[in-house]
Amino acid sequence: MATLFEKIASGEIPAEILFRDDRCMVIRDIAPQAPLHLLAIPLKPIVSLVAAEDGDRDLLGHLLLVGKKVAADLYGAQDFRIVINSGESAGQSVPHFHVHLLAGRQFSWPPG
Ligand code: AMP
Repeated sequence: MATLFEKIASGEIPAEILFRDDRCMVIRDIAPQAPLHLLAIPLKPIVSLVAAEDGDRDLLGHLLLVGKKVAADLYGAQDFRIVINSGESAGQSVPHFHVHLLAGRQFSWPPG
């Protein structure tokens, strides 16, 4: 069964897709936790970081570089909080790997 993000990529579920190439897309999070909250998502439905393999190395790096470029080009964001929730206890709710890029406010540490 297709994941939520596969359905967004195919157009079955609408979303604000800000960037797309042959390997990934960057969308705006539907429930933003900061003034800027983007998700960089591989088109390949890797379940979580735990499920990622050595062969996904370039893809995972690509997500970081594309995500920060979209955030910088479209929003001028220079400071980011990058979050990858991997597994339910870590807060992952969509079982399709994705990188959160948050910007536009002060972030605290440690995270909750
Ligand atoms: P996580 O909890 O780390 O798995 O992150 C999943 C993210 O997907 C959450 O921040 C949700 O707000 C976001 N999300 C869920 N449904 C949608 C949607 N239809 N469009 C955009 N973002 C979504």
